[in-house]
Amino acid sequence: MKLARYKDADGTHFGLVENDKIHRLTFDGSAQALIAAWDAMQSDCAAALEGDGQALSAVALLAPVPRPGKVFAIGLNFADHIEESGMDSPSEQIWFTKAVTSVNGPFDPILIPKVSQTVDYEAEMVAIIGKRGKNLAEEDIAGHIFGYCVGNDVTERMWQHRTPQWSLGKSFDTHAPIGPWITTADEIEDPHGLDIRCAVNGEIRQSSNTKHLVFNVWQQISQLSQAMTLEPGDLIFTGTPSGVGAAMDPMVFLQDGDVLVTEIEKLGRIEGHLTNES
Ligand code: ZN
Repeated sequence: MKLARYKDADGTHFGLVENDKIHRLTFDGSAQALIAAWDAMQSDCAAALEGDGQALSAVALLAPVPRPGKVFAIGLNFADHIEESGMDSPSEQIWFTKAVTSVNGPFDPILIPKVSQTVDYEAEMVAIIGKRGKNLAEEDIAGHIFGYCVGNDVTERMWQHRTPQWSLGKSFDTHAPIGPWITTADEIEDPHGLDIRCAVNGEIRQSSNTKHLVFNVWQQISQLSQAMTLEPGDLIFTGTPSGVGAAMDPMVFLQDGDVLVTEIEKLGRIEGHLTNES
């Protein structure tokens, strides 16, 4: 199923997307609560899908998990991106947090902050945790994932690299757009075989496939779970391929008015318009 959060004239709701329709769920609570209750929601989901639904084009899609408990992202996790970054291939997984306040809707403006103009894009598949867990083995991870969505680990490059710890440069408001909905894990046979692309103003900048992840999704989430309890709704950004603006010669950063499109096979497409912070 495709679980979306959206706004219409009536308010904000959760819904199931099927073809060009969205079918409203009556659930009233947080995204985390809905994900945690998902197994018990299946008859509600079936009932919603039997209704007529409304045109997807008539609603505004919102971030499916607007305020997750945590957002983690892995650095240097595609071989071609490691090479363009001029870094050594890491023997350990490199994790940083993105502030939960950086989460942004799939079609909302992405801000170029007042303090700096070196905003860059990183197309990434995002895994959404479905079940609480700690010290999980790699073979148990699939059962703990609720689903996947498209994300962009938007980065303020100057702020990222002016200290050894990247989190601040990764945490600006609006810099974690996700969506357009969550495709549940049962629809994604293997998350390690999906084409991933990013375009700026229609020009393809990144084009790869998640089969090229250095540390795969199971390894990533298993490792995170050694340190912390993973909870429903937690977001894991799984790494970006080559083609970021900072690796171009000369470097090119996103500008006011640019249109940033991120697409992943089977998961959909998000589109953010770059806008100067006022
Ligand atoms: Zn990234």
